[in-house]
Amino acid sequence: MALLEIMSNLGKAVSYQEIQNSLMNFDRITLYRTLNTFIKRGILHKIIFENHQSFYALCSIDCTTDRHQHQHVHFQCNQCKEVSCLEAKEPIQLAISNHFVDDIEITASGLCQECHK
Ligand SMILES: [Zn+2]
Ligand SMILES: [Zn+2]
Ligand SMILES: [Zn+2]
Repeated sequence: MALLEIMSNLGKAVSYQEIQNSLMNFDRITLYRTLNTFIKRGILHKIIFENHQSFYALCSIDCTTDRHQHQHVHFQCNQCKEVSCLEAKEPIQLAISNHFVDDIEITASGLCQECHK
């Protein structure tokens, strides 16, 4: 599948625009449907930033058709605008009473390793 190939070759989160540009033969609706199918199957996840830009990233093996299990941070670099999925050094825990969390969505921004040099 071309879409997944592109995603794994890039090895980072890709914006909707970038996906659309690389898959010229997909019309908007087909692309939208394809992305949603992969999200439902636990293969991709969507990341939405404050500016309403959407990014898509590959899921780890922890995600299944039943549910996504994310414990990572989505980081966007203020300079190069690249988005990456970063594992936290320690498991992210939220103390919320009477609710059971299995998916945490955290977005952070700052400078990436490359831009921080
Ligand atoms: Zn997932
Ligand atoms: Zn950067
Ligand atoms: Zn992610």
